[in-house]
Parts: sequence; structure tokens; C-alpha cells
Amino acid sequence: MEKTATGFHWQSLLSLILPARCHACRRYLRDEASPCFCRDCWDTVSLIDGPCCPCCGKPFASEAALSHSPGHLCGDCRERSPYFDRAVAAGWYEGVLAEAIHLFKYRGKTVLARPLGALLLHAMERLPKADGLVPVPLHPSRLREREFNQALLLCDSVKAESGLPVIPDGLERVRETPPQIGLSHEDRRRNVRRAFVPKRPERIEGRRIVLIDDVLTTGATVNDCARALKRAGAERVCVLTVARTPDGFG
Ligand SMILES: [Zn+2]
Ligand SMILES: [Zn+2]
Repeated sequence: MEKTATGFHWQSLLSLILPARCHACRRYLRDEASPCFCRDCWDTVSLIDGPCCPCCGKPFASEAALSHSPGHLCGDCRERSPYFDRAVAAGWYEGVLAEAIHLFKYRGKTVLARPLGALLLHAMERLPKADGLVPVPLHPSRLREREFNQALLLCDSVKAESGLPVIPDGLERVRETPPQIGLSHEDRRRNVRRAFVPKRPERIEGRRIVLIDDVLTTGATVNDCARALKRAGAERVCVLTVARTPDGFG
């Protein structure tokens, strides 16, 4: 940001006078449906809606795998069955959607909770009926740093439209996990193992839970959360994320 000798922020003043620009194409925004992005750019978000593994949601290359056996699981799920019952993601973690999640999570653009929540709602149609929403929690030290839990804001956005109750303290993160980037699948699993515990088992027991997070990478984090929720007596745990990386469950 430009700062003159008097400490005056020209950029801040200009931002009050001029309409905001689209973060992708820099065009001025008018009455766009999604904050931060123009309609044309937001429409480039690639949604995941083709054939996919009925458990982890990993997209299959063709319909062939499911044409004769709708319950056909991907290789990963056959090898090691996850704790969650089903995982779906709205779109691919790339382009405008990746940029939107970054702005939402690290740049404080919490206004994006609404359009990202709308994507979650759309993807939630592929999940069976649920009783409550649980956010993937942040470790308290990370929460202090970021000031908000993006997964909880997403839960609130889904609640506003679906009416499903949010159980904000369903899980607790008892161990901070180092960043997953650069780790092998096996190391990622080890990295998050036992990082979550059920905090309010009485609100989880016998319930059908939808666990919400922004991005699914390997699925190791949500799998550890699902393990804790099942231990608390959850009848079913489905995972709902805004995006997924092509990495797959591991
Ligand atoms: Zn644009
Ligand atoms: Zn799978």
C-alpha cells in the first residue's frame, strides 16, 4: 500500500471512492452476486459433478466403474476403509475457487462465506439427510492468530439456508499439526493422527453429522475427525468441503 510522508493512505481513500475490483480479472465490480469476483470469473469455478467414488468422492475418469456396480469403491477406499461414510466436495481447488478460499481464509474476506456456503449447499444435495453440522476445529493457538475458524463460518452460512443446527464445539483440536504440504500420504496420516477429540459427546451420540471444512487434500484430517465423532457415537459422518485437490484420499 502506498504511504506518503504524512502517513496518508491514498489507496485506502481510492477504495472508498472507486468500486471494488474483481480479484481475478481486475474489472470493476458492480452489483455482482459474489463479493470479490465478477460474475464471469465466478462462473469459471469448476464444479465436481461427474461419476465418483461413493465413499471418498474421488472422481472417476469415466462412468464405466459405476455402470454395473453403483457401490464400486476406488482403490484407496477398498484398501483402507475411511471412518467417514461419505465425502463430497463442491469444486476443484484451482483458479478462482482456490483464490476465493485463500482470500477467505488468510486475507479476512469473510464476506465470501456466503457464496462459498452456497456451493456447499449445492454439493450437500448429494449427501443423505443429516441432523447437525460440525466444523473442523482449529487449534486454539491458530485460532488466536487467524481470529476466526473458516470452517465455522461456512457452517453458519449453510445453517442459514438449510436450517440444520451447528454444533460448534463438537470436536476439539488437541494437537497442532505441522503443515501437510510436502509430506507423503503415510506421513500425513501420522501427522494428524489423534489430533481431534470429541468435546461434547452428548450432542454427537446417535446423530447424523455433516463435517465441514474448506479444502479436502488427502482426507487425513477429516478422517481423524470422523474417527473421533464415531467414537462419540455418531450414527453417520459425512464430509462436506468447498473444494478438493486432485490428490485424493490417502
Ligand atoms: Zn472477473
Ligand atoms: Zn474412495
